[in-house]
Amino acid sequence: MPAQSCLFLCLKDNFGVLVHDPETQATAAIDAPEAPPVEAALKRTGWNLTDILVTHHHHDHTAGIEELKQRHRCRVVAPDAEASGIPEVDETVREGDRVRVGALEARVIETPGHTAGHISYWFEPDCLAFVGDTLFSIGCGRVIEGTPDMMWRSLLKLLALPGETRLYCGHEYTQANIRFAQTIEPDNLALIARAAEASEQVRQHKPTIPTTLDAEKAANPFLRADLPEVAAAVGLAGKPAAEVFAEIRGRKNRF
Ligand SMILES: [Zn+2]
Repeated sequence: MPAQSCLFLCLKDNFGVLVHDPETQATAAIDAPEAPPVEAALKRTGWNLTDILVTHHHHDHTAGIEELKQRHRCRVVAPDAEASGIPEVDETVREGDRVRVGALEARVIETPGHTAGHISYWFEPDCLAFVGDTLFSIGCGRVIEGTPDMMWRSLLKLLALPGETRLYCGHEYTQANIRFAQTIEPDNLALIARAAEASEQVRQHKPTIPTTLDAEKAANPFLRADLPEVAAAVGLAGKPAAEVFAEIRGRKNRF
């Protein structure tokens, strides 16, 4: 049976999301920014929390873990490289490891850059990927612990997933990201359409995610750093994609 999901806001602009297996009734929270909105989502859906799958160690992704674990005795899965900075970890995972949520199965993709040990969870049969703070809709995470080159290689791994993959990210940053993206590719028709779509979603108080990899490939400048027109737009025609990516990321930091 296909996975079910429940998306909700936490803190100021974090997303929380539950993934539910209707066959076994297992339910995972992807990250735990804070406990109360997770509890509210569990109550709304009638699901029981069995697992927390952590993408990286930042406090706004882990602050709810202790309280949730105490109440639900759920298993906490976290990136091996960051386990010491994450509370209550039961299992650590690395590139290629499989994580089961009931009968659902995710593959771990190491996507360092934002943090040195950041991981993403790809539920291949369900065409779902939880990418934390690596990739945002029309944006990407700040490169805090890694290098731009490392982050670009992480994005290449996500670019290799099937185009129809639905992407869930850690923050509602879409409109701010669009404003920046339009400074790089003002004439990109997919980006213009995405701006209109996101405005309508926000007007209706709806989240702007999940997005799809195909939609991001068409409009997200960070995923388009390997295209000649994007390299030219930032004055780096003919330069390697990683260099173009670093330039775009640097501009976003100063935006
Ligand atoms: Zn983060």
